[in-house]
Amino acid sequence: MELLFLWPLVGLLGTLLAVVLALVLPSNWGGSRGGRRMSYAERRRLERHQARTQKTCPECAESVQKNARVCKHCGYRFDGEVRPA
Ligand SMILES: [Zn+2]
Repeated sequence: MELLFLWPLVGLLGTLLAVVLALVLPSNWGGSRGGRRMSYAERRRLERHQARTQKTCPECAESVQKNARVCKHCGYRFDGEVRPA
């Protein structure tokens, strides 16, 4: 019995299943973040972590490192806002 020809089919089915799951699952499962799936609680934890380590540039509203003195997006200077972590 030759079964080798089945493996490409299995791979194809797996790919189709992944695509279907990606389409069916709600987008707030983290599909927009590099495909990593996170629970709601994990997402909230990550957002809180980013809120601690990042700040929003008042000029361009992009997220930059909290310790940054100059916005990497627009060059805005955060003079006097840098605090030790
Ligand atoms: Zn900026």
